[in-house]
Amino acid sequence: MNYISTRGAGAGERHTFSDILLGGLAKDGGLYLPADYPRVSADELARWRALSYADLAFEILSKFSDDIPAEDLRALTRRTYTAQTYCHVRDDDASGALAAQITPLKTLGVENGATLSLLELSNGPTLAFKDMAMQLLGNLFEYTLAKHGETLNILGATSGDTGSAAEYAMRGKQGVRVFMLSPHLKMSAFQTAQMYSLQDPNIFNVAVQGVFDDCQDIVKAVSNDHAFKAQYKIGTVNSINWARVVAQVVYYFKGYFAATQSNDERVSFAVPSGNFGNVCAGHIARMMGLPIEKLVVATNENDVLDEFFRTGIYRVRKAAETYHTSSPSMDISKASNFERFVFDLLGRDPARVLQLFRDVEEKGGFDLAASGDFARVQQFGFVSGRSSHADRVDAIRDVFERYDTMIDTHTADGLKVAREHLQPGIPMIVLETAQPIKFGETIREALLREPERPAAFAGLEALPQRFEVLPADAQRVKDFVAARTSD
Ligand SMILES: *Cc1c(COP(=O)(O)O)cnc(C)c1O
Repeated sequence: MNYISTRGAGAGERHTFSDILLGGLAKDGGLYLPADYPRVSADELARWRALSYADLAFEILSKFSDDIPAEDLRALTRRTYTAQTYCHVRDDDASGALAAQITPLKTLGVENGATLSLLELSNGPTLAFKDMAMQLLGNLFEYTLAKHGETLNILGATSGDTGSAAEYAMRGKQGVRVFMLSPHLKMSAFQTAQMYSLQDPNIFNVAVQGVFDDCQDIVKAVSNDHAFKAQYKIGTVNSINWARVVAQVVYYFKGYFAATQSNDERVSFAVPSGNFGNVCAGHIARMMGLPIEKLVVATNENDVLDEFFRTGIYRVRKAAETYHTSSPSMDISKASNFERFVFDLLGRDPARVLQLFRDVEEKGGFDLAASGDFARVQQFGFVSGRSSHADRVDAIRDVFERYDTMIDTHTADGLKVAREHLQPGIPMIVLETAQPIKFGETIREALLREPERPAAFAGLEALPQRFEVLPADAQRVKDFVAARTSD
């Protein structure tokens, strides 16, 4: 398996899965994709139906990472996808059986002739779907670093979900340290406690006196200091990381098997979307041959992606145009993984991708409406919709009253938009991306009650916290990192 850049530089060079694992963007600013998508045969699909999550992950990943010995990869996936790690299921009676499924499918009911269900992706350590990929990344990083005798210092900025998923994935891992910047006193008490209560010596929480954008600017400034970056082996784990995307392909297969009896059936997926990482994995599953009818892209008020899929116009937003919503993990001004899909949409023409994403930088966007390429969006099965705060409050209330199920704000956006695209006889699977406890304020508004809290999180906010407060100053952050990486 060889990887290429969406912008075409280095064509003819060989990049294996391990080569691109620890890096971010390709040299030319493009994103890595496999030179060809592996196809799944009918026989394989039939055989995979019976596999455990870990073994399914092994089968899928091994098609993308043939440079890792099979026995190593199998050990890695079995260590990652365990019932102990994905144990925070909400049904106590069936907890053992559900946790063993890793991503259990919960059927809600039949609406407009379509079976509507939730694929639970948020039963991992931080109660959000990012654990699905990040836990694997933690083990892959440790494995690869050990093999090459290297170390890595991950520097990141977070407003909540990504940072905690990264910390829980990397805690205690050999050769890895995490320096996570978060805005001081700006996260919810629950999210703050999730991160700051970690006592592992390789995890450093830095509370920056500023807002999330200040944290992000500091990470950019440090990453642009190439000498510092090289000396202190600074890396990232952002959503463009290819291994994160490919790890997410697995649950599309698992969800498909859970919702169908045979491989002649088709299903649709509705995906709460921000940076387009999650739904990009759905696109790849479809390109591999999974019988997917529709991929429903659901956005919140930050509707960059919905606008594109309705009109063919991709227009990134300015900071001042980006709303702070009650589904904050989808509050994006541009979708950092979108370029991967555009590459496929344009028939894998790197020169055109390069031009379009230059236009994004210089003119703030591009317009494919008039070109024949936009028509192909339908062939790829994509449809979209957007949701507002009022919509998500309604959806949370409705699902609770009708199906006795509490959903979080992001999942509510997915469900709202899913309902606009139901087709009789085609199961609609909504990806559940977080548990309600993480976004309690809106649950209280919608339901006038407290969100459900998995037993293991009782008293979380009262645990001792370990963090350092620093001013919003890149030099101070560099000094902090340098002082703690002296080996
Ligand atoms: C990150 C996140 C999303 C958005 O996923 P993308 O891969 O960025 O599209 C949606 N919901 C939750 C809860 C998240 O944490």
